[in-house]
Amino acid sequence: MKVHDGMYIDGRWTPAAGPESIAVVNPADEQVIARVPAGDAGDVDAAVRAARAAFPAWAATPPAERAAKLTALRDALAARKDEIAETVTAELGSPLAFSQRVHAGLPLLVAGSYAELAASYRFEETIGNSTVLMEPVGVVAAITPWNFPLHQIVAKVAPALAAGCTVVLKPAEDTPLTARLFAEAVHEAGLPAGVFNLVTGLGPVAGQALAAHDDVDLVSFTGSTAVGRQIGATAGGAVKRVALELGGKSANVILPSADLEKAVKAGVADVMANSGQKCSAWTRMLVHKDRYEEAVALAAAAIAAYVPGERIGPLVNAEQQQRVLAYIRKGIAEGARLVAGGPEAPLETGYYVSPTLFADVTPEMTIAQEEIFGPVLAMIEYADEDEAVRIANGTVYGLGGGVWAGEEAEAVAFARRMDAGQIDINGGRFNPLAPFGGYKQSGVGRELGPHGLAEYLQTKSLQH
Ligand code: NAD
Repeated sequence: MKVHDGMYIDGRWTPAAGPESIAVVNPADEQVIARVPAGDAGDVDAAVRAARAAFPAWAATPPAERAAKLTALRDALAARKDEIAETVTAELGSPLAFSQRVHAGLPLLVAGSYAELAASYRFEETIGNSTVLMEPVGVVAAITPWNFPLHQIVAKVAPALAAGCTVVLKPAEDTPLTARLFAEAVHEAGLPAGVFNLVTGLGPVAGQALAAHDDVDLVSFTGSTAVGRQIGATAGGAVKRVALELGGKSANVILPSADLEKAVKAGVADVMANSGQKCSAWTRMLVHKDRYEEAVALAAAAIAAYVPGERIGPLVNAEQQQRVLAYIRKGIAEGARLVAGGPEAPLETGYYVSPTLFADVTPEMTIAQEEIFGPVLAMIEYADEDEAVRIANGTVYGLGGGVWAGEEAEAVAFARRMDAGQIDINGGRFNPLAPFGGYKQSGVGRELGPHGLAEYLQTKSLQH
């Protein structure tokens, strides 16, 4: 077990003010692998002061120079790709191949995209007789969850730095080791002291102190709707900018003309990825009644390939495991048909949940309404397109979604009727520049690409 005693503040690894620490547990074998400091309000204050002091010079740094630093940061992360993948696997439990490809690979794309955007973005434009300046908002508080530990960090920190903001990051308590590697990469990239700061700690202590700090100009939060609502209220009271990426209950709509086998297989894969711990996961599969039983059989066959401990990892901690098992029990109690999996843990050690498939799910059931955040798929049937739209839009969330049809135009027409921020057409293809974020209670604001950069800017107009 490794004991870390520093947090990255003002360009240095600095001991925490208090003696408290957080145990980091490997969810696959339940062993404590490390301890990190549990920062308090004093540590947060030191980090915010460092970020404030560094802000004027970083904001005044020409965009091309900020772009060069971001390229160096991307390269430093690339050089540590194996270490990052192994660290995510150790603290999150995801299979190593997935950690390599997604947890370590995706952030490189995003960091690279912001290195380019910092150089090419128009921070100034002319509208009639006005010059409009896009200026950095100031000191950013970034509060991130554990499900994609590095991606969530890079999706906030890279655009903030590209915009000219300085940052204090409070990562999730379950996955602080990946955040430490990110701070090491920042240091290697030669970013000026104070431009990026890391405080590890508990959400209700360090997270809350950071979100409520008077000298923070913008809070960017990704996590649960409950905490997001609280942060939004605090920020609103202080008239502070806020960006919230919250939960989801995304619908994967398979229209009658679709290639059913392809759509079902991709739908199952989407919910199983990262053990279902993905806010945009297609947790509801909507299938026309004439093809419903065929789809259930295809899904049952597809889900059998996700063997716990091999192709699918554990959940992040015991609490999440118990939460998900409780939802599975609830699905059974409310009358859904259990086709695969169930509420028994499949392995004795590790926080595993069996890949679970429910058929005959009706739109009002708890498992069709609430975010489960585990490998659980709910299959719902519809009679016609209008009903499919009503079901797809019939939750408080609106984050992601999928639509499948024989002709792309048919799927696009359906997607236009969906209340969701990002929808894949016939499987789509990931685009790191496309805006990501929620309609309705899935959040406020967008991440990634130029829209994600704009979150960290405020506009000033000069009339000539
Ligand atoms: P969480 O909200 O408990 O934690 C997220 C982050 O907020 C962590 O860093 C945590 O320490 C911090 N935090 C907790 N309480 C806080 C407080 N009072 N003040 C300030 N910060 C606080 O969520 P979680 O359990 O880490 O993640 C699971 C949930 O997050 C799921 O419900 C999922 O929907 C959501 N999520 C959403 C997205 C998205 O992009 N929309 C991504 C990942 C996770």
